[in-house]
Amino acid sequence: ARVVGRGKASEADLEWGEAVAREVIDSAGNVIREEIDGDFTKNRMKLRYYLGLPLTVGGHQVGALVFIRYGGPPFDPSNIRIPEFVAAHIALLFEHRQLIERLSSLEAERRLENLQDDFVATVSHELRTPLGFIKGYATTLLREDTTWDESTRKEFLTIIDEEADRLQELIDNLLDSSRLQSGTLKMEFQPIRLDTMLKDVVLRAKSFYENLAIELDLQATGLQIQGDPTRMAQVFDNLLSNAVKYAPGSKVFLKLTQEDEHRAHISVKDNGPGIPSNHLKHLFTRFYRVPNRNSSVRGTGLGLFICRRIINAHGGEINVESTLGEGTTFHIYLPCEKGLSI
Ligand code: ADP
Repeated sequence: ARVVGRGKASEADLEWGEAVAREVIDSAGNVIREEIDGDFTKNRMKLRYYLGLPLTVGGHQVGALVFIRYGGPPFDPSNIRIPEFVAAHIALLFEHRQLIERLSSLEAERRLENLQDDFVATVSHELRTPLGFIKGYATTLLREDTTWDESTRKEFLTIIDEEADRLQELIDNLLDSSRLQSGTLKMEFQPIRLDTMLKDVVLRAKSFYENLAIELDLQATGLQIQGDPTRMAQVFDNLLSNAVKYAPGSKVFLKLTQEDEHRAHISVKDNGPGIPSNHLKHLFTRFYRVPNRNSSVRGTGLGLFICRRIINAHGGEINVESTLGEGTTFHIYLPCEKGLSI
């Protein structure tokens, strides 16, 4: 409801208009009414002329448009083409808005359906691959018509072991991603020193990837965040495993700086092939993978989605910068406080 044209007593105006609006809606037609409420010769507000018109969208009434004139002249039923024209236009605006809303909800439904299709396709493909290896090598080892020497047996068992780990990781990722999506992933916050955390990240990465050259540059010490240590470790493990997968052979640079009094900045940089710029804005979307890459590099496109959700849950931000042929840098900004400088 909106009052136009008079500054005073607008609430009372709205109330008067409401009775007529109801009448228009009940009768589904134009209403012309006049109301005398005392001596209007001294106060023209006491003589009220109403014109109420239905607002109709696609055959359905969605509201009413009410004009009120104080003190006259009365509305002439044979001369209300302009208000009718205005009502028709307002109804068109309503219709337009309804269509836009419908369109965007259809679009959202369609995206969800596509996502679910992609989800099933990606997940079943990704689950089937390690499962295929496990089944194949286990069946081979169980064959009774062949004996395997110790080193072959060991090789096959190692493959089974690694593929089972991969399956585990995949299922964990899927569960995390759906818990993050539904907001049911619990984080347990505690004070974490960023320099110590990054040193641990480097140690873990070195023991995991024997040939990885990694450089840690701590420009700030004693910075502390409130964070979930397991989840924060997951973020960096994922960024480093991406660097190993997508920038093979490149050195990785991990750097901590203090952005301002309350913000820490951590960057993870590689000198790999980089990512074409048109893909950058999608990189943190669930299941997004840059197409036409070396197809032997396995992944689900969940890693960066999970990273962003975790960083967001810590009140921070993560983004990416990449130049083809030069490399990729992930930037993480986290709210921090100056802890004890030990
Ligand atoms: P996944 O590794 O399972 O595919 P991620 O969400 O971790 O999923 O990464 C999404 C995509 O981003 C990857 O498929 C890859 O194409 C690209 N990407 C991630 N990190 C890098 C990197 N350091 N260099 C080049 N491309 C990368």
